[in-house]
Amino acid sequence: MITKKLIKRSNIKHALLVEPNFPIAKKSRNHHDFLPIGLLKISSYLKSLDINVKLIRYDEDLVNETKDFKPDVVFVTSLFTYWSNFVKEAVESCKKNFNVPVIVGGIYASLMTEHCKEFTGCDYVYSGVFEEAENLIPDYDLVDVDYQIIHTTRGCIRKCDACGVYEIEPKFLSKKSIKKEIVKKKIVFYDNNLLANRFIENILNELRELKIEKKISYCESQSGFDGRVLIKKPYLGKLLKEAGFKNPKIAWDGSIDEKEDIENQINILVESGFKPSEISVFVLYNFEIPYDEMEAKRVEAWKYGVQISDCRFRPLDSTFDNYNSHKREGQSIKDYYIHPKWSDGEIRLFRRNIRSHNICVRLGTKYYSPSAERKRIPIVLAKKFRDVDYTTAKKYIKDAWDPAICHKNPLTR
Ligand code: SF4
Repeated sequence: MITKKLIKRSNIKHALLVEPNFPIAKKSRNHHDFLPIGLLKISSYLKSLDINVKLIRYDEDLVNETKDFKPDVVFVTSLFTYWSNFVKEAVESCKKNFNVPVIVGGIYASLMTEHCKEFTGCDYVYSGVFEEAENLIPDYDLVDVDYQIIHTTRGCIRKCDACGVYEIEPKFLSKKSIKKEIVKKKIVFYDNNLLANRFIENILNELRELKIEKKISYCESQSGFDGRVLIKKPYLGKLLKEAGFKNPKIAWDGSIDEKEDIENQINILVESGFKPSEISVFVLYNFEIPYDEMEAKRVEAWKYGVQISDCRFRPLDSTFDNYNSHKREGQSIKDYYIHPKWSDGEIRLFRRNIRSHNICVRLGTKYYSPSAERKRIPIVLAKKFRDVDYTTAKKYIKDAWDPAICHKNPLTR
Protein backbone atom coordinates (compact mmCIF):
# COMPACT_ATOMS: atom_id res chain seq x y z
CA MET A 1 0.00 0.00 0.00
CA ILE A 2 1.35 3.44 -0.92
CA THR A 3 0.82 5.72 2.04
CA LYS A 4 1.91 9.19 3.00
CA LYS A 5 4.10 7.70 5.78
CA LEU A 6 5.76 5.24 3.43
CA ILE A 7 6.50 7.93 0.87
CA LYS A 8 7.93 10.26 3.54
CA ARG A 9 10.00 7.46 5.06
CA SER A 10 11.35 6.54 1.64
CA ASN A 11 12.67 10.06 1.22
CA ILE A 12 11.29 10.34 -2.31
CA LYS A 13 12.09 13.65 -3.99
CA HIS A 14 11.41 12.90 -7.65
CA ALA A 15 8.67 10.68 -9.07
CA LEU A 16 8.32 9.72 -12.72
CA LEU A 17 4.81 8.98 -13.97
CA VAL A 18 4.66 6.86 -17.10
CA GLU A 19 1.79 6.33 -19.50
CA PRO A 20 2.65 3.29 -21.67
CA ASN A 21 2.46 3.72 -25.41
CA PHE A 22 -1.17 2.54 -25.67
CA PRO A 23 -2.60 2.58 -29.20
CA ILE A 24 -5.36 4.97 -28.09
CA ALA A 25 -5.73 7.25 -31.09
CA LYS A 26 -4.92 4.55 -33.66
CA LYS A 27 -7.19 1.79 -32.44
CA SER A 28 -9.84 3.01 -30.12
CA ARG A 29 -12.42 5.55 -31.19
CA ASN A 30 -14.24 4.99 -27.91
CA HIS A 31 -11.18 6.12 -25.96
CA HIS A 32 -9.93 9.00 -28.07
CA ASP A 33 -10.21 11.40 -25.13
CA PHE A 34 -8.33 9.12 -22.77
CA LEU A 35 -6.11 10.76 -20.17
CA PRO A 36 -4.00 8.94 -17.58
CA ILE A 37 -6.31 10.37 -14.97
CA GLY A 38 -5.00 8.11 -12.18
CA LEU A 39 -1.47 9.41 -12.77
CA LEU A 40 -2.70 13.00 -12.83
CA LYS A 41 -4.35 12.47 -9.44
CA ILE A 42 -1.21 10.81 -8.10
CA SER A 43 0.71 13.84 -9.34
CA SER A 44 -1.52 16.17 -7.29
CA TYR A 45 -1.03 13.92 -4.30
CA LEU A 46 2.76 13.76 -4.66
CA LYS A 47 3.03 17.50 -5.21
CA SER A 48 1.11 18.02 -1.98
CA LEU A 49 4.01 16.16 -0.33
CA ASP A 50 6.55 18.46 -2.05
CA ILE A 51 7.69 15.76 -4.45
CA ASN A 52 8.79 16.77 -7.95
CA VAL A 53 6.83 15.05 -10.67
CA LYS A 54 7.33 14.41 -14.35
CA LEU A 55 4.84 12.71 -16.67
CA ILE A 56 5.91 11.05 -19.90
CA ARG A 57 4.19 8.97 -22.51
CA TYR A 58 6.55 6.05 -22.89
CA ASP A 59 8.29 5.69 -26.20
CA GLU A 60 11.73 4.63 -27.32
CA ASP A 61 13.13 8.03 -26.33
CA LEU A 62 12.71 7.48 -22.59
CA VAL A 63 16.39 8.25 -21.87
CA ASN A 64 16.35 11.56 -23.71
CA GLU A 65 13.09 12.69 -22.16
CA THR A 66 14.39 12.04 -18.66
CA LYS A 67 17.99 13.16 -18.97
CA ASP A 68 17.42 16.05 -16.54
CA PHE A 69 15.17 14.09 -14.21
CA LYS A 70 16.47 11.28 -12.02
CA PRO A 71 13.49 9.60 -10.37
CA ASP A 72 13.45 7.92 -6.97
CA VAL A 73 10.34 5.99 -7.92
CA VAL A 74 8.35 5.29 -11.11
CA PHE A 75 4.57 4.92 -11.35
CA VAL A 76 3.29 3.21 -14.49
CA THR A 77 -0.41 3.12 -15.33
CA SER A 78 -2.21 0.26 -17.05
CA LEU A 79 -5.44 0.04 -19.00
CA PHE A 80 -7.13 -2.97 -20.58
CA THR A 81 -5.69 -6.40 -19.82
CA TYR A 82 -5.24 -7.04 -23.56
CA TRP A 83 -2.86 -4.07 -23.70
CA SER A 84 -0.59 -5.65 -21.06
CA ASN A 85 2.28 -5.78 -23.58
CA PHE A 86 2.51 -2.00 -23.63
CA VAL A 87 2.79 -1.98 -19.83
CA LYS A 88 5.51 -4.64 -19.90
CA GLU A 89 7.47 -2.66 -22.47
CA ALA A 90 7.31 0.52 -20.35
CA VAL A 91 8.20 -1.28 -17.10
CA GLU A 92 11.16 -3.10 -18.66
CA SER A 93 12.56 0.10 -20.05
CA CYS A 94 12.15 1.92 -16.71
CA LYS A 95 13.81 -0.96 -14.86
CA LYS A 96 16.68 -0.89 -17.32
CA ASN A 97 17.22 2.86 -17.17
CA PHE A 98 16.55 3.67 -13.52
CA ASN A 99 17.57 1.59 -10.57
CA VAL A 100 14.45 2.50 -8.55
CA PRO A 101 11.17 0.80 -7.58
CA VAL A 102 8.58 0.62 -10.36
CA ILE A 103 4.93 0.53 -9.27
CA VAL A 104 2.10 -0.41 -11.66
CA GLY A 105 -1.54 0.54 -11.03
CA GLY A 106 -4.68 0.87 -13.12
CA ILE A 107 -7.22 -1.52 -14.64
CA TYR A 108 -4.96 -4.40 -15.77
CA ALA A 109 -2.99 -4.18 -12.50
CA SER A 110 -6.25 -4.42 -10.53
CA LEU A 111 -7.85 -7.21 -12.54
CA MET A 112 -4.74 -9.40 -12.96
CA THR A 113 -2.47 -8.47 -10.08
CA GLU A 114 -0.35 -11.63 -10.07
CA HIS A 115 -0.02 -11.71 -13.85
CA CYS A 116 0.97 -8.04 -13.87
CA LYS A 117 3.73 -8.63 -11.31
CA GLU A 118 5.21 -11.60 -13.13
CA PHE A 119 4.66 -10.54 -16.71
CA THR A 120 5.88 -6.95 -16.43
CA GLY A 121 8.62 -7.57 -13.85
CA CYS A 122 7.58 -4.49 -11.83
CA ASP A 123 8.39 -4.20 -8.12
CA TYR A 124 4.88 -3.51 -6.82
CA VAL A 125 1.36 -3.75 -8.14
CA TYR A 126 -1.27 -1.36 -6.81
CA SER A 127 -4.75 -2.88 -7.06
CA GLY A 128 -7.96 -0.81 -6.97
CA VAL A 129 -8.57 2.90 -6.50
CA PHE A 130 -5.79 4.90 -4.80
CA GLU A 131 -7.97 6.33 -2.02
CA GLU A 132 -5.58 9.05 -0.86
CA ALA A 133 -5.61 10.71 -4.27
CA GLU A 134 -9.18 9.87 -5.29
CA ASN A 135 -10.77 13.16 -4.32
CA LEU A 136 -7.95 15.42 -5.49
CA ILE A 137 -8.27 17.51 -8.64
CA PRO A 138 -6.08 15.86 -11.32
CA ASP A 139 -2.92 17.78 -12.18
CA TYR A 140 -3.92 19.14 -15.60
CA ASP A 141 -0.70 21.20 -15.72
CA LEU A 142 0.97 18.00 -16.93
CA VAL A 143 -1.15 17.65 -20.07
CA ASP A 144 -2.12 19.94 -22.90
CA VAL A 145 -5.87 19.41 -23.24
CA ASP A 146 -8.93 21.64 -23.23
CA TYR A 147 -11.17 19.12 -21.45
CA GLN A 148 -11.22 17.40 -18.10
CA ILE A 149 -12.32 13.99 -16.94
CA ILE A 150 -14.59 13.57 -13.95
CA HIS A 151 -15.92 10.56 -12.05
CA THR A 152 -19.05 11.35 -10.03
CA THR A 153 -19.37 7.70 -9.01
CA ARG A 154 -17.23 4.64 -8.49
CA GLY A 155 -18.51 1.14 -9.12
CA CYS A 156 -21.94 0.38 -10.54
CA ILE A 157 -25.38 -0.58 -9.25
CA ARG A 158 -25.43 -3.56 -11.65
CA LYS A 159 -23.25 -6.61 -12.17
CA CYS A 160 -23.22 -7.50 -15.88
CA ASP A 161 -21.43 -10.67 -17.05
CA ALA A 162 -19.00 -8.99 -19.42
CA CYS A 163 -17.93 -6.24 -17.05
CA GLY A 164 -15.01 -6.01 -14.63
CA VAL A 165 -16.17 -2.90 -12.76
CA TYR A 166 -17.36 -4.90 -9.78
CA GLU A 167 -13.90 -6.40 -9.26
CA ILE A 168 -12.05 -3.09 -9.41
CA GLU A 169 -14.60 -0.90 -7.67
CA PRO A 170 -16.81 -3.23 -5.59
CA LYS A 171 -18.54 -0.42 -3.66
CA PHE A 172 -20.95 1.93 -5.39
CA LEU A 173 -20.10 5.45 -4.25
CA SER A 174 -21.78 8.67 -5.38
CA LYS A 175 -20.54 12.25 -5.12
CA LYS A 176 -23.15 14.85 -4.26
CA SER A 177 -21.42 17.81 -5.85
CA ILE A 178 -18.74 18.38 -8.49
CA LYS A 179 -18.86 22.12 -9.07
CA LYS A 180 -15.63 22.74 -7.14
CA GLU A 181 -13.84 20.25 -9.41
CA ILE A 182 -14.59 22.11 -12.63
CA VAL A 183 -11.41 23.61 -14.09
CA LYS A 184 -12.06 23.28 -17.85
CA LYS A 185 -14.93 24.18 -20.15
CA LYS A 186 -15.37 20.71 -21.65
CA ILE A 187 -16.22 17.88 -19.29
CA VAL A 188 -15.99 14.16 -20.06
CA PHE A 189 -17.59 11.87 -17.50
CA TYR A 190 -15.85 8.56 -16.95
CA ASP A 191 -18.54 7.12 -14.69
CA ASN A 192 -19.48 3.53 -15.38
CA ASN A 193 -23.11 4.41 -14.77
CA LEU A 194 -23.54 8.16 -14.43
CA LEU A 195 -27.33 8.25 -14.15
CA ALA A 196 -27.21 5.82 -11.21
CA ASN A 197 -25.49 8.49 -9.08
CA ARG A 198 -27.74 8.95 -6.02
CA PHE A 199 -27.43 12.70 -6.43
CA ILE A 200 -27.65 12.87 -10.21
CA GLU A 201 -30.31 15.60 -10.13
CA ASN A 202 -28.01 17.79 -8.04
CA ILE A 203 -25.01 17.11 -10.30
CA LEU A 204 -27.00 17.95 -13.46
CA ASN A 205 -28.45 21.08 -11.87
CA GLU A 206 -24.93 22.23 -10.99
CA LEU A 207 -23.85 21.68 -14.59
CA ARG A 208 -26.93 23.50 -15.89
CA GLU A 209 -26.04 26.54 -13.78
CA LEU A 210 -22.40 26.43 -14.93
CA LYS A 211 -23.63 26.23 -18.52
CA ILE A 212 -25.89 29.27 -18.06
CA GLU A 213 -22.95 31.16 -16.54
CA LYS A 214 -20.85 30.05 -19.59
CA LYS A 215 -18.32 28.39 -17.27
CA ILE A 216 -18.65 25.14 -19.21
CA SER A 217 -19.37 24.60 -22.90
CA TYR A 218 -20.40 20.95 -23.11
CA CYS A 219 -20.40 17.60 -21.32
CA GLU A 220 -20.06 14.06 -22.64
CA SER A 221 -20.37 10.65 -21.06
CA GLN A 222 -17.80 8.06 -22.06
CA SER A 223 -20.12 5.16 -21.19
CA GLY A 224 -23.63 4.64 -22.46
CA PHE A 225 -26.46 5.83 -20.21
CA ASP A 226 -28.38 3.21 -18.28
CA GLY A 227 -31.77 3.62 -19.97
CA ARG A 228 -33.57 1.79 -17.16
CA VAL A 229 -32.77 4.74 -14.90
CA LEU A 230 -33.98 7.10 -17.62
CA ILE A 231 -37.31 5.25 -17.82
CA LYS A 232 -37.76 5.60 -14.05
CA LYS A 233 -36.72 9.26 -14.09
CA PRO A 234 -37.58 10.61 -17.55
CA TYR A 235 -37.04 14.22 -16.39
CA LEU A 236 -33.30 13.46 -16.41
CA GLY A 237 -33.41 13.72 -20.23
CA LYS A 238 -34.22 17.43 -20.08
CA LEU A 239 -31.66 18.00 -17.34
CA LEU A 240 -29.00 16.29 -19.47
CA LYS A 241 -29.86 18.56 -22.38
CA GLU A 242 -29.80 21.69 -20.24
CA ALA A 243 -26.51 20.62 -18.68
CA GLY A 244 -24.98 20.69 -22.17
CA PHE A 245 -24.54 16.97 -22.78
CA LYS A 246 -23.85 16.05 -26.39
CA ASN A 247 -23.87 12.76 -28.30
CA PRO A 248 -25.78 10.79 -25.66
CA LYS A 249 -25.49 7.00 -25.83
CA ILE A 250 -28.01 4.49 -24.57
CA ALA A 251 -26.51 1.15 -23.53
CA TRP A 252 -28.20 -1.83 -25.24
CA ASP A 253 -26.44 -4.94 -24.01
CA GLY A 254 -29.51 -7.18 -23.93
CA SER A 255 -31.45 -9.07 -26.61
CA ILE A 256 -33.68 -7.86 -29.44
CA ASP A 257 -36.64 -8.40 -27.08
CA GLU A 258 -35.66 -5.14 -25.38
CA LYS A 259 -36.34 -3.13 -28.52
CA GLU A 260 -39.46 -1.41 -27.19
CA ASP A 261 -37.69 -0.39 -24.00
CA ILE A 262 -34.82 1.00 -26.03
CA GLU A 263 -37.23 2.91 -28.26
CA ASN A 264 -38.88 4.40 -25.16
CA GLN A 265 -35.49 5.42 -23.79
CA ILE A 266 -34.52 7.06 -27.09
CA ASN A 267 -37.90 8.82 -27.20
CA ILE A 268 -37.20 10.36 -23.80
CA LEU A 269 -33.96 11.82 -25.17
CA VAL A 270 -35.64 13.04 -28.35
CA GLU A 271 -38.50 14.64 -26.41
CA SER A 272 -35.82 16.30 -24.27
CA GLY A 273 -34.39 18.04 -27.31
CA PHE A 274 -31.68 15.67 -28.63
CA LYS A 275 -31.73 14.96 -32.38
CA PRO A 276 -31.96 11.22 -33.22
CA SER A 277 -28.86 11.50 -35.41
CA GLU A 278 -26.74 12.65 -32.46
CA ILE A 279 -27.94 9.77 -30.27
CA SER A 280 -26.24 6.35 -30.34
CA VAL A 281 -27.04 2.97 -28.96
CA PHE A 282 -23.98 1.46 -27.34
CA VAL A 283 -23.72 -2.25 -28.18
CA LEU A 284 -21.35 -5.03 -27.19
CA TYR A 285 -20.69 -7.58 -29.93
CA ASN A 286 -18.54 -10.71 -30.24
CA PHE A 287 -20.31 -11.86 -27.06
CA GLU A 288 -23.35 -14.04 -26.22
CA ILE A 289 -25.75 -12.47 -28.75
CA PRO A 290 -24.92 -13.91 -32.19
CA TYR A 291 -24.37 -11.95 -35.39
CA ASP A 292 -27.92 -12.27 -36.83
CA GLU A 293 -29.52 -10.91 -33.68
CA MET A 294 -26.99 -8.08 -33.45
CA GLU A 295 -27.87 -7.20 -37.05
CA ALA A 296 -31.56 -7.17 -36.06
CA LYS A 297 -30.67 -4.75 -33.24
CA ARG A 298 -28.78 -2.58 -35.71
CA VAL A 299 -31.80 -2.43 -37.99
CA GLU A 300 -33.99 -1.39 -35.06
CA ALA A 301 -31.52 1.43 -34.36
CA TRP A 302 -31.87 2.40 -38.03
CA LYS A 303 -35.67 2.64 -37.60
CA TYR A 304 -35.15 4.99 -34.67
CA GLY A 305 -32.72 7.05 -36.78
CA VAL A 306 -29.84 6.72 -34.31
CA GLN A 307 -26.19 5.73 -34.66
CA ILE A 308 -24.43 2.71 -33.20
CA SER A 309 -21.48 2.94 -30.87
CA ASP A 310 -19.85 -0.47 -30.78
CA CYS A 311 -17.53 -2.33 -28.49
CA ARG A 312 -15.93 -5.66 -29.44
CA PHE A 313 -15.89 -7.98 -26.44
CA ARG A 314 -12.59 -9.29 -25.06
CA PRO A 315 -12.53 -11.46 -21.92
CA LEU A 316 -11.45 -9.76 -18.72
CA ASP A 317 -8.31 -11.89 -18.58
CA SER A 318 -7.37 -11.56 -22.24
CA THR A 319 -3.73 -10.47 -22.40
CA PHE A 320 -3.40 -9.71 -26.10
CA ASP A 321 -5.47 -8.32 -28.96
CA ASN A 322 -3.93 -8.13 -32.41
CA TYR A 323 -7.16 -7.64 -34.32
CA ASN A 324 -6.44 -5.78 -37.54
CA SER A 325 -9.43 -4.46 -39.45
CA HIS A 326 -7.35 -4.09 -42.63
CA LYS A 327 -6.43 -7.78 -42.92
CA ARG A 328 -8.47 -8.85 -45.93
CA GLU A 329 -7.51 -12.50 -45.63
CA GLY A 330 -8.89 -12.56 -42.10
CA GLN A 331 -7.44 -13.55 -38.75
CA SER A 332 -7.89 -16.35 -36.25
CA ILE A 333 -8.27 -16.87 -32.53
CA LYS A 334 -4.48 -16.90 -32.35
CA ASP A 335 -4.56 -13.21 -33.26
CA TYR A 336 -7.46 -12.02 -31.12
CA TYR A 337 -10.43 -13.27 -29.10
CA ILE A 338 -13.32 -14.64 -31.16
CA HIS A 339 -16.37 -15.69 -29.15
CA PRO A 340 -17.62 -19.25 -29.88
CA LYS A 341 -20.91 -17.80 -31.22
CA TRP A 342 -19.04 -15.52 -33.66
CA SER A 343 -16.60 -15.91 -36.54
CA ASP A 344 -13.85 -13.63 -37.79
CA GLY A 345 -15.94 -12.96 -40.93
CA GLU A 346 -18.99 -11.95 -38.88
CA ILE A 347 -16.97 -9.63 -36.68
CA ARG A 348 -15.59 -7.83 -39.76
CA LEU A 349 -18.98 -7.76 -41.47
CA PHE A 350 -20.77 -6.38 -38.43
CA ARG A 351 -18.12 -3.67 -38.00
CA ARG A 352 -18.52 -2.70 -41.69
CA ASN A 353 -22.31 -2.61 -41.35
CA ILE A 354 -22.06 -0.32 -38.35
CA ARG A 355 -19.71 2.01 -40.14
CA SER A 356 -21.98 2.19 -43.22
CA HIS A 357 -25.05 2.60 -40.98
CA ASN A 358 -23.47 5.50 -39.08
CA ILE A 359 -22.41 7.26 -42.28
CA CYS A 360 -26.03 7.07 -43.52
CA VAL A 361 -27.38 8.46 -40.23
CA ARG A 362 -24.85 11.29 -40.15
CA LEU A 363 -25.36 12.25 -43.81
CA GLY A 364 -29.12 11.70 -43.72
CA THR A 365 -28.99 9.32 -46.73
CA LYS A 366 -31.06 6.16 -47.33
CA TYR A 367 -28.15 4.11 -48.64
CA TYR A 368 -24.39 3.86 -48.38
CA SER A 369 -22.01 3.48 -51.31
CA PRO A 370 -18.28 2.77 -50.89
CA SER A 371 -17.57 4.13 -54.39
CA ALA A 372 -19.46 7.36 -53.64
CA GLU A 373 -17.51 7.72 -50.37
CA ARG A 374 -14.22 7.27 -52.24
CA LYS A 375 -15.39 9.69 -54.92
CA ARG A 376 -15.13 6.98 -57.57
CA ILE A 377 -18.43 7.80 -59.23
CA PRO A 378 -19.04 11.01 -61.17
CA ILE A 379 -19.93 13.84 -58.81
CA VAL A 380 -22.99 14.69 -60.94
CA LEU A 381 -24.33 11.17 -60.43
CA ALA A 382 -23.56 11.22 -56.72
CA LYS A 383 -25.35 14.57 -56.29
CA LYS A 384 -28.32 13.53 -58.41
CA PHE A 385 -28.94 10.40 -56.36
CA ARG A 386 -27.97 11.72 -52.97
CA ASP A 387 -31.51 11.93 -51.61
CA VAL A 388 -33.16 8.99 -53.35
CA ASP A 389 -34.21 5.77 -51.65
CA TYR A 390 -32.13 2.63 -51.73
CA THR A 391 -34.08 0.88 -54.53
CA THR A 392 -33.69 3.84 -56.89
CA ALA A 393 -30.04 4.30 -56.02
CA LYS A 394 -29.27 0.62 -56.61
CA LYS A 395 -30.29 0.93 -60.29
CA TYR A 396 -27.48 3.40 -60.93
CA ILE A 397 -24.97 2.86 -58.15
CA LYS A 398 -23.91 -0.78 -58.17
CA ASP A 399 -22.45 -0.98 -54.67
CA ALA A 400 -25.35 0.82 -52.93
CA TRP A 401 -25.90 -0.77 -49.50
CA ASP A 402 -29.24 -0.83 -47.72
CA PRO A 403 -29.09 0.03 -43.99
CA ALA A 404 -32.75 -0.91 -43.46
CA ILE A 405 -32.32 -4.68 -43.85
CA CYS A 406 -30.42 -7.36 -41.95
CA HIS A 407 -27.35 -8.37 -43.94
CA LYS A 408 -26.89 -12.09 -43.49
CA ASN A 409 -23.45 -13.54 -43.16
CA PRO A 410 -22.79 -14.82 -46.73
CA LEU A 411 -21.19 -17.99 -45.33
CA THR A 412 -24.28 -19.06 -43.34
CA ARG A 413 -27.20 -17.94 -45.47
S1 SF4 B 1 -24.22 -1.37 -16.26
FE1 SF4 B 1 -22.29 -1.04 -17.39
S2 SF4 B 1 -20.81 -0.52 -15.83
FE2 SF4 B 1 -22.54 -1.40 -14.77
S3 SF4 B 1 -21.99 -3.55 -14.53
FE3 SF4 B 1 -23.22 -3.36 -16.40
S4 SF4 B 1 -21.70 -3.08 -18.04
FE4 SF4 B 1 -20.66 -2.70 -16.08
